[in-house]
Amino acid sequence: MLRVAVVGSGPSGIYTAQALVAQTLVPDVRVHVLDRLPCPYGLVRYGVAPDHEKIKSLQRSLRTVLEHERVTFVGNVAVGGDGLPPERLGELYHAVVYCVGAATDRPLGIPGEDLPGSHSATEFVSWYSAHPDATDGLFALRARSVVVIGVGNVAVDVARILARGADELRPTDVPQPALGVLAGSRVREVHMAGRRGPSQARFTTKELRELGGLPGARIVVDPAELALDPAYAGTEPGSPPLPALVRRNLDVLRGWAVSPPAPGPGAARTIGLRFFLRPVELLERGGRVAGVRFARTVPDGSGGVRDTGAYEDIGAGLVLRAVGYRGMPLPGLPFDAAHGTVPHRAGRVLRDGVDSPGEYVAGWIKRGPTGVIGSNRSCAKETVASLIEDAAVLTGRPSAADPLAVLRSWGLRPVEWDGWLSIERAEAALGRSLGRGPVKIPDWPGLLDAARGGTP
Ligand code: NAP
Repeated sequence: MLRVAVVGSGPSGIYTAQALVAQTLVPDVRVHVLDRLPCPYGLVRYGVAPDHEKIKSLQRSLRTVLEHERVTFVGNVAVGGDGLPPERLGELYHAVVYCVGAATDRPLGIPGEDLPGSHSATEFVSWYSAHPDATDGLFALRARSVVVIGVGNVAVDVARILARGADELRPTDVPQPALGVLAGSRVREVHMAGRRGPSQARFTTKELRELGGLPGARIVVDPAELALDPAYAGTEPGSPPLPALVRRNLDVLRGWAVSPPAPGPGAARTIGLRFFLRPVELLERGGRVAGVRFARTVPDGSGGVRDTGAYEDIGAGLVLRAVGYRGMPLPGLPFDAAHGTVPHRAGRVLRDGVDSPGEYVAGWIKRGPTGVIGSNRSCAKETVASLIEDAAVLTGRPSAADPLAVLRSWGLRPVEWDGWLSIERAEAALGRSLGRGPVKIPDWPGLLDAARGGTP
C-alpha cells in the first residue's frame, strides 16, 4: 500500500487525489486530502465569485473524488506555519503532495498602499465568499467611487460584484451580512485600470463580455485610450493575426467603443475600463484613501509601456488591488522567492537542485498563479506520474498504519467527510431560515460547531 497525503483540497489537490486513485501502476494507493479549513474545495468555494454558478457547480465533480473509497477528506488540519511541521507529516505518509496554492497577494510597492480604504481584492473576495479568516465588517461600501487596480479576471470579478444589485446576489450563497452591506452600497462608479494596453489585459473574453450584460451598470470605454494600443488598430480587416484571446477581447472593446451595451432600466452604476494608467501613489485625505495617482503610459513597442510624464488622479473612497496572487513559503520546504513557488522537477520537490523523493507539489505553488481551474488537471497528472515512478523507493519507507489516529494523538481535531456533510446541512438550514438557498457560515466557531452537528 502507498499512503499519500495531499495538502490542500482546492482543485489542484483534488485533481491530484483523482489522478492517484485513477492510475493503475500502483493499485493500492490511499489518499488523505488535508485542509486547514473544515471545508473542502479551496478557491472553488472561497474564490470563484458567487454569481458564477456554473463554475461553482464544479464542486459536484470534485465531490465524487472526495467520496472515492480510497480518498479521505481530513479538514481542520493546518500544515506549516502554526500548524503541523511538514517533516512530521512526512513521518505518517510515504509521500506528501503540497497543493497549497498562492496564499497571499502581490504587493504594489507604492506609497499609500496601506491606507485605510485600500484593500487587496483577495480581502474583498474573502469577505463576500464568507471565508472564515475574513475580517468581519471590513467593507461598508460607503464610497461613491471605487478604483480597481489591475485588469485580470479577479479585477473583473470584484468590479462585477460591486456593480450588481443585492437582488441579483440574493439567490447565491453570499453570506447574509455581506448581502446586507451590498444592499446598502453607495458605490456608483467602478474604475478598473490597467497599466498597459487592452491587448495586454489578462481577463478572458467571457468574463469581459459578462460586464456588458449587467442590468444595473453602464460600461464606459474611451476609444482614444484604446486606439493608443497598436494591436487595437490591428483588429481592422487586413491586419496581421493576433492571438485569439487578444483578438476576441479587442473585438468586445471595439464594439463597446462604437456602441456601449444598453444597460437595464434605471442602471445606477458605471464601470469604466481604463488603460495605460500605472499606479504611482494612493492619495490620502483625513487619514483614509481618497484616490489613486496614475502615471499615464504609452506602448514602448515591445509589449511594455513607458511613462509620458503626465499624471491622472482618480478619486476613490475604496481601492481594491487586484494585481495577482503570490505563493507563500512553507517552513521546512525550499522556496523560490523570485517566483513565489517551490522549486521542482516535473512536480518532485528539488532540495539544492536535487530530487527529494516523497515530497511533491502541484497547482499554483508549483507553477505560479496562472491558468484556469482545468489547468490544474494536467499539472496534477504530471506530478502524480513522478510520484508513481518513485513508488518502489517510497513504499520501502515507514508510514503510519492509521495516520488519523496519530494526528488525534497529537491533539489535532480533524473534520472528516461526515463533519463536512454536517456543515452542508447547517448551511442549507441557515439559508432556509432566511428564505434563501444554502448560505455559507462565515466564521470559524460556526463552522466547527456545525461540523460537530450543531446548527447556526
Ligand atoms: P492576473 O491575471 O495575473 O492579473 C493581474 C493584473 O494586475 C494584470 O492586469 C497585471 O498587469 C496587473 N498588475 C500586476 N502588477 C501590477 C502593478 N505593480 N501595478 C499595476 N498593475 C499590476 O491575476 P488575477 O486577476 O489575480 O488572476 C489570477 C489567476 O486566476 C488568473 O489565471 C485568472 O485567470 C484566474 N481567475 C480566473 C477567473 C475566471 O476564470 N472567472 C476568476 C478569477 C481568477 P500586467 O499584465 O501589466 O502585469
